[in-house]
Amino acid sequence: MRTFLIAGNWKMHQNIAETKAYFNEFTKLVKKAPEGVNILLCPVYTSLHAAAEATAKVDGLHIGAQNLHFEDKGAFTGEITAEMIKETGADHVIIGHSERRQYYNETDETVNKKTHKAIQAGLTPVVCVGELLEERKADRHFEVVKKQVVEGLKGVSKGDATKLVVAYEPVWAIGTGETASPDQAQEIHAFIRKELSSLYDEGTAAKIQILYGGSMNPGNAEELLSMEDVDGGLIGGASLKPDSFSEIVHFAGKIYSS
Ligand code: PEP
Repeated sequence: MRTFLIAGNWKMHQNIAETKAYFNEFTKLVKKAPEGVNILLCPVYTSLHAAAEATAKVDGLHIGAQNLHFEDKGAFTGEITAEMIKETGADHVIIGHSERRQYYNETDETVNKKTHKAIQAGLTPVVCVGELLEERKADRHFEVVKKQVVEGLKGVSKGDATKLVVAYEPVWAIGTGETASPDQAQEIHAFIRKELSSLYDEGTAAKIQILYGGSMNPGNAEELLSMEDVDGGLIGGASLKPDSFSEIVHFAGKIYSS
């Protein structure tokens, strides 16, 4: 049985003091990740170190950054390297989030370079893909997501593919309160799994976790996480509150052990 990854993307929220307060609360609610579940929280860069301190208190808790640069150093004002992220105690990094594609000109090509850099540095990349509303309406979502997967993972070997996570996040469901139905999520997750099988092989594809993201919350998480090819969630808004995030973590544990 596949294991779950329940990941939170804090975006540009939570300073250091708020991060410490969050983990004070969260560690009371989740003393240890449930069997079959890993937990990931991705704060802003300045809160990474404070967040990473909590990993000593909760087994199965991981910390990640929300972006990285693919170069090792240089004149790239405002950017951060994989090694700098690792130095904070983080071990994951979100790559190609739709907000970065939309506002910061992230392309499949930069996603691919960043994915290679993360793997090379020993960070687990969470590679985000997902279609826009107009692409879904035009029935182009399969084509769009296939291109993002194929180009984003170009040149990643079979051995390295199992070191990454894919997050399917339909852009029309991010921060909108609108969620893909469990059937819609399953349909495209199965499609992504099939594409991964063609790129690699069935065994490799089965090992790659595919997360759903887009307004996941305690009210819809159980149904979404119960779908066969949904291996977890990438959660924005609902990850900012320790109680709602921990509820989702517990749902995943319940599904794993049922
Ligand atoms: C996200 O930021 O990746 C996300 C899915 O946000 P939300 O859960 O708020 O829709």
